[in-house]
Amino acid sequence: MMEAAVLIAKCGKIKQIYGIRTQKMSDGDWWRTWAFPIDEQRAGSEGYDHTTVQGNLYHTKDYPGCPFCGTKNFVLCNKCHKISCWNGESRLECPWCGNNMNNIVTATEKFNLSGGDI
Ligand SMILES: [Zn+2]
Ligand SMILES: [Zn+2]
Repeated sequence: MMEAAVLIAKCGKIKQIYGIRTQKMSDGDWWRTWAFPIDEQRAGSEGYDHTTVQGNLYHTKDYPGCPFCGTKNFVLCNKCHKISCWNGESRLECPWCGNNMNNIVTATEKFNLSGGDI
């Protein structure tokens, strides 16, 4: 059976949330396949699977990127452990908690995330 999860991310530009559909491939890594806007209330009530996503988080060729700003990159906040858009800045303020991130953790590194968390 294919493992899949929806991760909730927030766009750093306009501070709106969106879902990132991820899928576990046969090599054990997770790939981002799709991104779509969702509203915060719906995301909470819809109860996305709390699947744990571990390993790399590459994106497929067809991955559209953030529905708001278009970036395909994201960062993981070391404080609140939520993900948000990253447009290549060397430092970034987390749109979730306001944490100033100096050490940007990018998608080429290993992740350990839980799907559906807001
Ligand atoms: Zn964005
Ligand atoms: Zn944060």
